Amino acid sequence: HADKLLEFSVMPYAKHKRLLIVRDVTSYREMDEMRRRFVANVSHELRTPLTVLQGYIEILDMQLVDSPQQSKTLTILDQQTKRMCALVEQIMILSKIEGAGSVDLNTVVNVPFLLKQIENEAIELGKNKSLTIKFEIDPNLHLLGDEMQLRSVMANLIYNAINYTPEHGSVKVRWRLSCKTGGHFSVVDDGEGIAEEHLHRLTERFYRVEGSRSRDTGGSGLGLSIVKHTLSHYGCELKVQSTIGVGSQFSFIIPTRYLIEK
Ligand code: ADP
Repeated sequence: HADKLLEFSVMPYAKHKRLLIVRDVTSYREMDEMRRRFVANVSHELRTPLTVLQGYIEILDMQLVDSPQQSKTLTILDQQTKRMCALVEQIMILSKIEGAGSVDLNTVVNVPFLLKQIENEAIELGKNKSLTIKFEIDPNLHLLGDEMQLRSVMANLIYNAINYTPEHGSVKVRWRLSCKTGGHFSVVDDGEGIAEEHLHRLTERFYRVEGSRSRDTGGSGLGLSIVKHTLSHYGCELKVQSTIGVGSQFSFIIPTRYLIEK
């Protein structure tokens, strides 16, 4: 059946026998694709009115503010519109990554340079909370891939560590060759940590840990989902180790075939 999508698995069955299980997942995949397209279209349509709203908020800000109360209202309008724009942008990125069957991973990405840029931004962000931020980067380790996507993966993990680490905490970022298994990227923080029962759900869309600082950070719960889907294009997985009250480590290993040593 050329038009059918079949999934195969093999299970042990009695002694010296195997059971071949064939599942027809055509309708499941079609529904998932419909969902993805719907979400992509809705978020695309939301972009225009949001841009118009932002424009009018800027005009009001320049012309009409003559009391502290009005100024406060406009600030809230501005913050919430920006938050909605960021959310729509993230939803669009996610549905694009989910929809991409394969990604062109043939461009050489200068990872040390990219991480230097993120480091400068991270140090600025960390100043507000007096965080100690350290980057240990192999200057010769580059990658074949998509620069925007790699930046988004690395920045997401680094900014999360900054967001979920309280004042005077520390964040350590490492990018190095790992015993021939690939390029090892890790972000370690000594922040609030995550309880065991949440760990396996962190990469679900919109999942945020209740009771953590998540509510204050204004995030969407989409960041780690984007990270997971992007990494799957490189054939690698996000690993999370965390202990509540001690800190977290988020890491992944990019397979050797994508590494370029200069
Ligand atoms: P968000 O936009 O909420 O940050 P993410 O998908 O990036 O969404 O992360 C999902 C949730 O995982 C966060 O809301 C937070 O509860 C938890 N989390 C992520 N990174 C960390 C971290 N370094 N330390 C503690 N909790 C974290």
